[in-house]
Amino acid sequence: MSRVTNFSAGPAVLPLEVLEQARAEIPDWQGSGMSVMEVSHRSKAFIAIAETAEADVRELMGISDNYAVMFLQGGATMQFALLPMNLSQPGDTVDCLLTGTWSKKAFKEAQVVRNARIVADGADSAYTDVPARESWQLESGAAYFHYTPNETIGGVEIHAPPDVGDVPVVADMSSTIMSRPVDVDKFAVIYAGAQKNIGPAGLTLVIMRRDLLERAPADLPNIMRYKSHADGGSMLNTPPTFGWYLSGLVFKWLKEQGGLTAVGERNQRKAKLLYDAIDTSSFYANPVTESCRSWMNVPFTLAKPELDGEFLKLAEQEGLMNLKGHRSVGGMRASIYNAMPEEGIQALVDFMAEFERTNT
Ligand SMILES: *Cc1c(COP(=O)(O)O)cnc(C)c1O
Repeated sequence: MSRVTNFSAGPAVLPLEVLEQARAEIPDWQGSGMSVMEVSHRSKAFIAIAETAEADVRELMGISDNYAVMFLQGGATMQFALLPMNLSQPGDTVDCLLTGTWSKKAFKEAQVVRNARIVADGADSAYTDVPARESWQLESGAAYFHYTPNETIGGVEIHAPPDVGDVPVVADMSSTIMSRPVDVDKFAVIYAGAQKNIGPAGLTLVIMRRDLLERAPADLPNIMRYKSHADGGSMLNTPPTFGWYLSGLVFKWLKEQGGLTAVGERNQRKAKLLYDAIDTSSFYANPVTESCRSWMNVPFTLAKPELDGEFLKLAEQEGLMNLKGHRSVGGMRASIYNAMPEEGIQALVDFMAEFERTNT
């Protein structure tokens, strides 16, 4: 077996220990004579998996009983639509902070449903910086405030939850969830597609303050209603059972790593190693303002963009995969989620130094 070092932005690297456990359990899961993919989601055994996964999410993130934890489908993108449909009424305003590609997409979808407003827009800095808090135009009566703590494409991260007064804060944490401890009580909703920092694609985690479950207009169909999902244990219809199971293994793995404090310290070290390598070189550059650089997605450019193809080709020969930047940005991007080991970053940094040496 040969595993590569996978810097994909998502679906992304998973812990090898988790993959090996899943492989071992596939033909005959817990003595059932079936794989976990072949059992009923209503079976006792699967319900135990589902409940344990929820308990582990609560323990890892320190989530109180004031919040519902839902395991849904449709990705983060589906929540872009469901959030305004559930958390606001016709005529309400939804406040959106724009810091890059994903927050803009969430804003556009909210606009389809409600009166979505732009609180501030990072366009002036080409989304390499977060607009200063003093410049935000908040609406005191907004149904909620939406932002994207980590912009997966631009590599811009807002490291502390923003203070927006009494307005509920809704955060798309798709690419930063569980990368460090967060104070969940500062949020009304945290949501994330699983395929970056949690597990396989197809599962979406939604953590919602319970009082907000009551807000949905009466004419909203059941399947689009968070309260129905929460009341039904996220089993209103057949859930993505394999994704739920595998994510559960990742939660166990995170606990074995020492929980989110230890994981966060490691992630900070990993990011520093890569940013230091970029900053001390005159060949590589990262455009993002230092205070809002992402710990999870690190875009960087080469001083000679005509060498991008060569860089990627030689990197692949070293087993350093999926470093091509997003088509909208160009250059390179290294996504260094929880499951990326420190040795993976070291291998990348070593490769970058060697490439610079032979090309300058
Ligand atoms: C990947 C990503 C999304 C889209 O997720 P889907 O699960 O594909 O809908 C949304 N927001 C952020 C921040 C992302 O990184």
